[in-house]
Amino acid sequence: MAEAVPSGGSREEAGIVTCDACPVLCRIRPGLTGACDRYGNVDGVLTRMDPMVIAAKVIDEKGELVPFLAGPEWQGGILAGAPAPARHFLTGIGSGTTYPDYKPAPFIVASEHQGVDMVTVVTEGIFSYCGVKLKIDTDRYVGPEQAAVRADGEQVGHVTTAEYGSQMLALGGVRHLTGGSKKEGVVACRTMLSLCQKEAVELTVDGGAKLKVQAGRPPVINGMREERMRVGCGSATIGIFAKQWHGHLDEVVVVDDHITGVLSEHQAGRFLDLKPAGVRVRGRRSTPGRYFQVANPGSGWGGTDVSDPLAIIEKIDAKIAWPGLRMLMVSTTGEDAEYFVLDDSLKPVKAAMPEPIKKVVERIGENCEPALVSVLFMAGAGGSLRAGVTENPVMLTRSVKSALTRVTSGGAPVYVWPGGGITFMVDVLRMPDNAFGHVPTPAIVAPIEFSLRLDDYRELGGHMASVRRLDELGKVDRLKLTAWHEANPWPLEPAPAPAGGHRPRG
Ligand code: SF4
Repeated sequence: MAEAVPSGGSREEAGIVTCDACPVLCRIRPGLTGACDRYGNVDGVLTRMDPMVIAAKVIDEKGELVPFLAGPEWQGGILAGAPAPARHFLTGIGSGTTYPDYKPAPFIVASEHQGVDMVTVVTEGIFSYCGVKLKIDTDRYVGPEQAAVRADGEQVGHVTTAEYGSQMLALGGVRHLTGGSKKEGVVACRTMLSLCQKEAVELTVDGGAKLKVQAGRPPVINGMREERMRVGCGSATIGIFAKQWHGHLDEVVVVDDHITGVLSEHQAGRFLDLKPAGVRVRGRRSTPGRYFQVANPGSGWGGTDVSDPLAIIEKIDAKIAWPGLRMLMVSTTGEDAEYFVLDDSLKPVKAAMPEPIKKVVERIGENCEPALVSVLFMAGAGGSLRAGVTENPVMLTRSVKSALTRVTSGGAPVYVWPGGGITFMVDVLRMPDNAFGHVPTPAIVAPIEFSLRLDDYRELGGHMASVRRLDELGKVDRLKLTAWHEANPWPLEPAPAPAGGHRPRG
C-alpha cells in the first residue's frame, strides 16, 4: 500500500477525504480517485497514486555506464538499503505538489556527491503558464504564420516563425488554457499532455495542412510521411555541391520555397568560372543566384506548390543560352530531380540523368538528416512554486541565474531563459515516460527538481527541517526505478566554487 502524500488532505465524514493538491479540491470517496486520477482515497488516506520515479545509473570499474537491467543492485539497491554502486536521482515524477504553495516541497533529499553534501528539492509543478514548442522538420507548407492550429476543432495554438528546414508551432499557453471557452482550455491541455507524453496527436492548420505529430517520429503532413530534412536552403545546396557538379553541367537550379539557388549566377558558380547560362527563374532576385518567391508555398518541390519544375523558369535568354546546354533542376532534399538538355530552339527537353549527376543528387539525399518532430515543454517555475523550496523565493531565482542551483525536469537538463523568473524549456524525449499529468483547472503537471549544495540551500533560506536523506526513502513503498537517460548530465555534480571562493548570495 502506498504511503500518505506529504501534502496532506483533510478527513471528512463517511471516509471522504478532500484533496488539497490543487485548487479543484476534490472530495474523494473511499476506494476512488479524484478528477485527475493522480490522487485517491486509499483506506481513508489521501494517496498519490502513481509511483515516484528514481532514475539510476551504474558505473562499472572502467567508468562506463552499465545497462540498467544488467546492474545487480536492481535486486534491492537503494530501496533495500544495500550498498549499491549505483547513483540515484530522485525525480519529481509522482512526488506530489506543494499547493497552496506555502508548504515545503514534498521531498527535499540530501545526498553526497564527490564528497560534497548536496540537496535536491523535488516537486510536481502545476503549470497554468506553460506551452509546447513543436519543431517539425519539413519544407512542406503547413500553413501561414500566425494561422490557428486546431485539435478537435478547438484552437490550441498557432504557426510561428519557420526555422532552418523546419516549420514551428507554438501550442498551449495560458490564453488557450484560461482565456477561451472551457472546451478550448480542456482540449489545449489534453493536446499538450499527449505531446509531452510522447503520444501522436492530429492537428489541422487553418488555411494549411493536416498534421500527425509525435515526439521523435517523422511528421505526417496531409497523409504524407516526411522522410528527409533538407540539406540546406537552395543557395546553401548550390554552395555545398557546386564543385561536384562542375564539368558535368552548365546550370543547376535548386528549387526552394524560401531561397532558390541558380548555380551559374551564384557566387559558387562564379568562383568556378562557370559561364552565364541565360536561364532566368521567376521571383525576386535577392543577390546573384539567390531568388525569393519563385512560386507559392505548398507540398511540391522544395516546399513550393510546383510539381513541374519548369514552371519556375521565366525565360531562357537566346542571347546567352545555347543548344545542348545541360541543366539540372533539383529540390533541397534531392527527392525531386530532373535533367534537361536545351534543343535547337532552346527549349528544355527532359533527358536521362547521366550517372555522375545522379550520384550528386543521391549525395544530397545522403546528407539530409531524418525528418523528426521535436517537442519542447516550456513553463514558468518562477512563481509560487519557489516557496516550496525556500521561504524567500527570489533567492532561488537568483541562485538559478548564478548557476549555483541546477534545474532539471524528470532528471533532464533544462534551458532556463534569461531575464526574470525561472522560465524553462525541456526536450520531452530526454525525460522518463509518463512524466506528465494534468489537473482540470486546466493545467499541466510536470516534474521539476532543484539541485544545489546543502550549504547553499541553507544560505538561501531553504526548508532545512524538511531535509531527509536519500537512503531514508527506502521506507516509501511506491518508488519506481528507471534507467538514467545516458545523454543527460548528472545533476548532482556540485557547482564549481567561483574564483576567490566567493559564492554570490541573493
Ligand atoms: S484534480 Fe487531482 S490534484 Fe486536484 S484536487 Fe482533484 S485529485 Fe487533487
